[in-house]
Amino acid sequence: MCIACNWSAMLGAAATTSLAAAIHANAARATLPRRRLLQAGALMAAAAVTPPLLQGGAAHAGPGPMGSPADGAADWIFSGGGIYTMNPAQPWAQAVAVRGNRIVYVGDGTGVERWRGPRTRLVDLKGRMLLPGFVDSHNHLASLGATKLGVNVRGLQGKDTILAKVKDWIKDQPPGAVLRGHGWSMESMGGISPRREWLDAVTGDRPMYLLSFDMHDLWFNTAAMQLAGVSAKTADLSKTQYFERDPDGTPSGHSHEDASLQILLAMGFTSPETIREAQKLTIDVAPRHGITTYMEAGVIMGAGNQENEWVYRKLIERDQAGELPLRIVGTVWTRSMGDDPAKIAALLKDWNQRLRSDHVQISVCKLWSDGVLLSGGALTLEAFSDDPLNNGRMTFDGEHIQRQIEATQKAGFDMHIHVDADGSTRTVLDAYERAFARIGNRGTRHVICHNTMVHPNDIPHYKKMGLIANATPLWGTDYDGIYRKSYEKRIGNQRIEERLFPYGDLQRSGTIISYGADIPGADLPELAPLIQLEAAVTRKRVGFPKDEPLVARQRVSVAEALRNYTWNGAYQLRLEDKVGSIETGKLADLVVLGADLFKVVPEQIHTVPVLLTLMDGRPTHNTLQT
Ligand SMILES: [Zn+2]
Ligand SMILES: [Zn+2]
Repeated sequence: MCIACNWSAMLGAAATTSLAAAIHANAARATLPRRRLLQAGALMAAAAVTPPLLQGGAAHAGPGPMGSPADGAADWIFSGGGIYTMNPAQPWAQAVAVRGNRIVYVGDGTGVERWRGPRTRLVDLKGRMLLPGFVDSHNHLASLGATKLGVNVRGLQGKDTILAKVKDWIKDQPPGAVLRGHGWSMESMGGISPRREWLDAVTGDRPMYLLSFDMHDLWFNTAAMQLAGVSAKTADLSKTQYFERDPDGTPSGHSHEDASLQILLAMGFTSPETIREAQKLTIDVAPRHGITTYMEAGVIMGAGNQENEWVYRKLIERDQAGELPLRIVGTVWTRSMGDDPAKIAALLKDWNQRLRSDHVQISVCKLWSDGVLLSGGALTLEAFSDDPLNNGRMTFDGEHIQRQIEATQKAGFDMHIHVDADGSTRTVLDAYERAFARIGNRGTRHVICHNTMVHPNDIPHYKKMGLIANATPLWGTDYDGIYRKSYEKRIGNQRIEERLFPYGDLQRSGTIISYGADIPGADLPELAPLIQLEAAVTRKRVGFPKDEPLVARQRVSVAEALRNYTWNGAYQLRLEDKVGSIETGKLADLVVLGADLFKVVPEQIHTVPVLLTLMDGRPTHNTLQT
């Protein structure tokens, strides 16, 4: 389930509710840098010039000359075997040498000796494993870590236990720290709507909020309410976006969906400071998990793309200061039928040209074709099992999706389309088919992401059309101990067996599969590729070896999963000539694992430590004892 998408719908909806839009405009004036408004005319003119299909551009330097030892010794030599390259011509190697930002040698242990110099760092792999850095090709690390800031009360039961944890946490916070947290649910509250006085008792007059585990609800205290100017007079936005209230109309401390925005924004939820704090939980820790590249599947801190430009600017500033530990491919997004596909494509082209640095470029159009299946926000081919007159719905119709595919492709870029049910998937596949019938598909790298539910008849069409299927493997398990039950209720056992997260079926159809952890749809620790990879191989929750695999035939091999997380991700992002495999001349994005994954019991893959991560030949994470 893509919680990220639900969450983004909530922030995006700020545009459609006048109250929230007004609040957001205020917050934006207070916190965002001045933006240059792009003129529609200029955008249209730019779109009329069709550039060649994107080649990765200057933002990511291509392979350089191989060089020779005579030009200087290597900075790193890895030897002793266990080097799995993703290069079909040479799948395993004995030794690798890195000089500067490049791989200069891949081969046997004798040949590497001539690269050794007095300052070369030698890493004896003995029983460990060297891989290309992991490429996470669908995530929201730039902004949505904001939902995970503060105290985490997930898994705690009962308001007293939760409040005790909050109280302890507050004690450790420096004065002036923003008080916030996440992870409660109506279940953990014993079914009782949380009240502001409960929080007041541990916070005093400092404002505080706690997001629910699924980010649909907010629990806030009296000071937060006052800060945001929320009172008995504050109107509800709709029947589903409202405040719980006392008999006199005063909000009691619990809001639903967009009603929460007023408090979140007043507490700086979309401020640069919050985003920087959030990135400490995501971008800054990704190298510890072996990640060297990721695709940002949507920065959603405001109602439109322009409201988010500053987030990319900040990333570029970090990169220019040498403080960005990842390569990032960013997106321009479209989420409403009101968007003009040509303008979206023109904005993408504009951002691709203007917003770039050594490790940041924007080259993908993200489109949310639907919402979330479990909450009825995605289109199914047959009605829901628990709601026999309802097939759900999509956000876009097929014609609009087709127009966006064509506009994006003509501008030289790729689509990344969110789908969460089998009816939406078929609509999107048909839209691709019609677009390709008109303008061809040569050189395209378009993506369908999540692939939560795909009808067996539709599986072969991915490969046939050259579409890439992006997956979050952990969702293909009994995730959180509730997925099997939840999907059983919604679509029944037969459709689970036939269609749910058909990652093995897609793999065997020859489709190129890529992986992403999709934070915040997964919890922060689940950012780890080794956790996702284990789930792909076992279809069991990590740490629950006795789980029944969720549709056993959807398991894939370790070799397949590794390729999906490295070369295939690089291919999706048009970076496969630079990263994604260990080959001479490629950039030295590498990871050393504490064990050879082919020799580890699948249920133990997540326990293998990541010892060293290099990006451009420089350590972004290092716990090697050398
Ligand atoms: Zn999504
Ligand atoms: Zn996502």
